[in-house]
Amino acid sequence: MLKRIPMRLSLLLASLLLCFSGRSAHAWSGYTHSLIAEESLKNVAKEWGLESPIRITSFESFLKKLSQEKPEIQTREDFAKWLQINPKGKFDHFKKEEKIGENITPFKVLTFSSPRADDGRDKHIPYDPVEQFWFGKGTKTASQAFRHMEKPPFNLFDPLNTFGFPLGRIGQASERAQIYFDLALLAYRLKEPYWAFNFLGCALHYLQDLQQPYHAAQLSPPLAFEGIKAYLRWGRKEKWGLIKTITHVTANTHHYFEGYVDYQLTSNNSSVGKLWKEALSGESLLPQFTSALGLAKQVRDFSNRFSYDTIKSTFKITGKSLTSSYTYAIDDEEGEQLHPEDPTPYLNPDHLERVKAADTLSPIVHESFQQQGKVIRTVIRAFLDQAQKI
Ligand SMILES: [Zn+2]
Repeated sequence: MLKRIPMRLSLLLASLLLCFSGRSAHAWSGYTHSLIAEESLKNVAKEWGLESPIRITSFESFLKKLSQEKPEIQTREDFAKWLQINPKGKFDHFKKEEKIGENITPFKVLTFSSPRADDGRDKHIPYDPVEQFWFGKGTKTASQAFRHMEKPPFNLFDPLNTFGFPLGRIGQASERAQIYFDLALLAYRLKEPYWAFNFLGCALHYLQDLQQPYHAAQLSPPLAFEGIKAYLRWGRKEKWGLIKTITHVTANTHHYFEGYVDYQLTSNNSSVGKLWKEALSGESLLPQFTSALGLAKQVRDFSNRFSYDTIKSTFKITGKSLTSSYTYAIDDEEGEQLHPEDPTPYLNPDHLERVKAADTLSPIVHESFQQQGKVIRTVIRAFLDQAQKI
């Protein structure tokens, strides 16, 4: 079917879809990932036993037990192949606070492990050629984008948020959440609690990514529009080409939104950042849990509703600064808790437009974080309930 699309049209579509993959497909900074887990669980951690110490065991210890159950998995490479991750990724690395043989609380392991899926494990992995087409063939990190994002199917009643190619669902974030949830239960059954909570933290990562509206949408009209405008303004003159210019503008906006949220959360003077943090915390759960997959899809659909407004407001909050050839820098140290570049120099000098855009973004992040806190607690509670029955 793809062959029937005229060459020029298919090139244009592929170029626009590159936007989805961005430069590195981060959703939140490592700091924000950890903070979401920490704030969401802090009020229930003690009561749920997440502060009772467990022993840190090596990956080899887990692998040895796994290989007895699954003889086809004998080595680190076998494990990576089985889990469909990059064997060169740092999936078995520890933070300096995690020393083998010492104790740690599950609460800490969950906060440490929430950023871990960004450690390179999902980069450079082969995937289905048709899916590869829609995610931009040949981009280095396209597979990470594919794993960490998911667009819901096109909905005629919500065209601006759900628009994209193909019209059906695309992306694997919800599946990855389920895969790591199951792996966490398996590790628990093998009496490897450290690895159970490490993998459970990875499941949280995909749920957190999907809460970022840019990760639950694809070809939002403002991205295509601003990208084409940038191409006509400077991309053509500077010989960037249409594909590269649109991808660049998209990645800048996507990463800026993450930088903006990260900045508000870390700044002591930000009252909005304090409100967002408070929105995460609490004790309430969602009314029901069927599966990690179902929960992830709920998160995806929830945040997709905000994608058009989020994208439009990011452009307004920054004026023209993100549509130039300058690249807004994010933390690209895989798995490390670094912050994105200071977002303040890029703020729109038009005060009124900036304030209006901030007024749109603030309740979006607040509502998303309120939902996210419940999502994180719901999936952890479900894991603990299921683990108890093992
Ligand atoms: Zn991610």
